Amino acid sequence: MFWKKKKNLGKNPFYNQRDYIVIYVQCDNCGEVFRSHIRKSSELFTNFQGKASYILKKELIGSKCQNRINIYAEFTSGFKPLNFEISGGHFITKEKYEEHEQKEEEK
Ligand SMILES: [Zn+2]
Repeated sequence: MFWKKKKNLGKNPFYNQRDYIVIYVQCDNCGEVFRSHIRKSSELFTNFQGKASYILKKELIGSKCQNRINIYAEFTSGFKPLNFEISGGHFITKEKYEEHEQKEEEK
């Protein structure tokens, strides 16, 4: 059932939603989860060299610890990721993020 295919985070952890690229990230240090909306029109750097059309540089700092999460990615003009790297944290799926938020509310 292709419509229920699980997202392959190793291949593409980015959720392409209209004007935004949405990322879900978990802190490697404390386990805090983040959801970040990156506005395509203003938060991506336009690139004119090589294959990449857009470059993303994002730093996330949580409220639970001082750890900084840095994300770097290169996209084609169609917002397909060419390559990406993340330090201080790792990408999670939307489902995992929501599951985590649910648990936080129940505490
Ligand atoms: Zn943290």
